[in-house]
Amino acid sequence: MFATGFRCGRCGATYELDEVRYVCPRDGAEGTLDVLYDYERIRATLSPDRLRDHPSRSIWRYAPLLPLRPETLKRVEGAGTLQAVGWTPLYRAERTARRLRLRAVYIKDDGRNPTASFKDRASAVAALKASEEGASAITTASSGNAAAALAGMAAALNLPAIIFVPHTAPEAKVAQLLIYGARVFLVEGTYDEAFDLTLAAAEAFGWYCRNTAYNPFTREGKKTAAYEIWEQLEGQVPDRLFIPVGDGNILSGLWKGFRDLVALGWIERPPILMGVQAEGAAVLARAWAEGREEIQPEPPHTIADSIAVGRPRDARFALRAVRETGGAFLTVTDDEILTAMRTLAREVGVFAEPAAAAAFAGLEKAVREGQIGEEETVVVMITGNGLKDIPSAMRAVGGAHRIPAEIPMALQQLKGALR
Ligand SMILES: *Cc1c(COP(=O)(O)O)cnc(C)c1O
Ligand SMILES: [Zn+2]
Repeated sequence: MFATGFRCGRCGATYELDEVRYVCPRDGAEGTLDVLYDYERIRATLSPDRLRDHPSRSIWRYAPLLPLRPETLKRVEGAGTLQAVGWTPLYRAERTARRLRLRAVYIKDDGRNPTASFKDRASAVAALKASEEGASAITTASSGNAAAALAGMAAALNLPAIIFVPHTAPEAKVAQLLIYGARVFLVEGTYDEAFDLTLAAAEAFGWYCRNTAYNPFTREGKKTAAYEIWEQLEGQVPDRLFIPVGDGNILSGLWKGFRDLVALGWIERPPILMGVQAEGAAVLARAWAEGREEIQPEPPHTIADSIAVGRPRDARFALRAVRETGGAFLTVTDDEILTAMRTLAREVGVFAEPAAAAAFAGLEKAVREGQIGEEETVVVMITGNGLKDIPSAMRAVGGAHRIPAEIPMALQQLKGALR
């Protein structure tokens, strides 16, 4: 294993891997930890050429860049769906690029993961970490996707999973949890409240805790998407990435992935990172607009449940990712999100859940406001599949036409309907 330690994002203190478990002891949950690596040693075993020839079409092709011991990585073999995480398609969306007058637009379709969201990347690594530690069970708070991913990955590893989601979580996500055999608790409160409840429960019952960003390995799983984009563009880095933001952990994960590639000497700089939040859950966007390092939590209100976060847990790294790459935060309304769901589906054939469509709405808005140059190549992170939230999709489109089965009458009505 080439991970060497941790560094606190708040105070900068460094720790040995076995010295701390989740967050910086000085700063508590404010001090999320960045995993450090020995890049020289990684370069001795991994190169862009060797990666190109790698047979694994999953995140496990990047094993040397993950904080897992070789014995732990062996558990992936034969562990069902865990083997299939990542290496999601990157589609070129020519029609979108032409309409928006951009050089190229690519859609990274992470809804194609085993449990249909980007969260598989983080939950796979966290579940393996729990099994490495010999944990009796793993737990997480989640708006839905992180939990569905954890339930699926834990099932593949035969590890008990205990899940806390807000009682308002979309039904499809709750169904995923139950079918994967997790113990599911619907919290009568928000995701932010479920988060703190999970920390307390993990401590009280001795479970391994996957909570986003609080667990330093979620970012490490999420960073693999950056490597994939770089490989899928044949060693090029796009000019700009649009990323939906709740806790900010996907954003900080992508930044980490590109920083790794810089540290390895394989790219010169990360792309410009654009964080997209829902207008009703825009704590990071507001802090960024006001030039603040500290966030001001607010109760979230948006149709995009996966980014309905009032107290973003990876705030520090997310703000830094946008600042240091010359990016920006944008906000989009629920109506813009619903419109983007339709446009993305009809223009690219990708059915996104609302939070994922927010990234596409962010691209549209950035173009409208003249924030992007015409020569740019842009990637939009589509982080979750639309089948996870059918009621929102139906809101975006309205109902279908009902006709009788009797043929002459049906043809008569079709004539009217198709006019
Ligand atoms: C979790 C999630 C996000 C946001 O990720 P954060 O790390 O919380 O910022 C965006 N889209 C989908 C579909 C998600 O499940
Ligand atoms: Zn610290």
